[in-house]
Amino acid sequence: MYDAIIIGAGPAGSVAAAILCKAGRTVLVLEREMFPRFSIGESLLLQCMEYIEEAGMLEAVTAAGYQRKNGAMFQRGGTYSGFDFSEQFSTGWSETFEVPRATFDTLLADEAERAGADIRYRHEITAVDVQTEQPTVSCLCPDGANASFTCSFLLDASGFGRVLARLLHLESPSNFPVRTSLFTHVEDNICDANYDRDKILISVHPNRKDIWYWLIPFENGRSSLGVVATPDSIKGYGGNVDAALQSIVAEDKELARLLVNANWDTPARQITGYSANVKQLCTDKYALLGNAGEFLDPVFSSGVTIAMRSASLAAGLLNRQLSGESINWQEAYAEPLAKGVSTFRSFVNAWYDGRFQDIIFYEGQSPEIRKMICSILAGYAWDESNPYVSNPERRLNTLWNYCRVDQSEALEQK
Ligand code: FAD
Repeated sequence: MYDAIIIGAGPAGSVAAAILCKAGRTVLVLEREMFPRFSIGESLLLQCMEYIEEAGMLEAVTAAGYQRKNGAMFQRGGTYSGFDFSEQFSTGWSETFEVPRATFDTLLADEAERAGADIRYRHEITAVDVQTEQPTVSCLCPDGANASFTCSFLLDASGFGRVLARLLHLESPSNFPVRTSLFTHVEDNICDANYDRDKILISVHPNRKDIWYWLIPFENGRSSLGVVATPDSIKGYGGNVDAALQSIVAEDKELARLLVNANWDTPARQITGYSANVKQLCTDKYALLGNAGEFLDPVFSSGVTIAMRSASLAAGLLNRQLSGESINWQEAYAEPLAKGVSTFRSFVNAWYDGRFQDIIFYEGQSPEIRKMICSILAGYAWDESNPYVSNPERRLNTLWNYCRVDQSEALEQK
């Protein structure tokens, strides 16, 4: 009998576990895999740092020596537009990290264990019962036996495993079209002195605004490299994932130039249809964290930030509930979390229809507006004092129209 059972030891699960343990709660984490294990999603946002600190993990994360990240660089047809996190609207951190997730997730889980969480690896959840007074979780243990555990509250942090969404029939389709991503790790051997290793590089395909690439440098001369496109576009490159990824990268002359000496030493992977949603995020017996609830899109690296934000919010509320307070989970958890998610959603939509790309590459942007946009790129998507958080759709449309008109007037004058 635990205060909380957490399904999954990814960033959401470990952060929630550590926060609850720090508050003196008993926590069992059931994780399907053995760590370290591969996971995609290596670029953190500044907003994450607050939750890493709240979970008591800041010292360990900082000491691990990960590649620092101080901004985001965008590239289209050899034209660059950089955002430096030191120049942003919201107050907060100015640097974060690019993290190979195998080691990062292990570090977070070890820290959660150090805080007192009982983490059991190779325990795969097979059934849950949330109809009873105290939720029960059944799992398959490493020795093939089945075990059941009971708790006061169940937190699902199973990521793309989407355990509660599947078992409780909560699945709901995402509003985003299905997209495919191909990705790998390379020894990048980038020797261009102008290349800024302290920033994620997002490149737009020269002819297709809905195809984009990420290049996320690590501390050891390696990089995460990936592309996102529609499944149909990917099919056009043939069935071999490695060859397809290399062909698409070759089409972007600037990215290909940077990676001319890269050693493609790791088999590429493919993932399709990762955007997902649920009908219900919480009740007074359970809550879905991070990707187990909703996943939007990788373009703004918002996944781990949303995962950690949901973990922090849910752990705080659960702690109050366990102290006897009555919590309205819909009002206190689902709605506040949705605010920032919907900010990201507006920006993702504007990215794929090209409006946000026009905004980013517009040369006459005012420094004040760039700061507001920079804050969203840094993950401060819940900072309502930022006009691009309080009213993202209207603001993005107004700004896009302004950039378009101004740019076409400038062209006419030329
Ligand atoms: P996860 O990290 O997925 O952890 C879930 C854990 O639950 C796993 O360890 C899994 O083994 C375990 N689990 C699953 N099923 C079960 C089960 N039945 N029983 C027990 N345990 C189970 N995000 C970023 O922030 N930055 C990026 O740069 C970025 N790039 C991305 C690129 C792509 C192509 C994609 C698809 C996503 C990207 N993301 C990125 C998103 C990021 O991967 C996720 O948002 C993030 O990992 C979510 O964390 P989580 O803790 O919710 O889940």
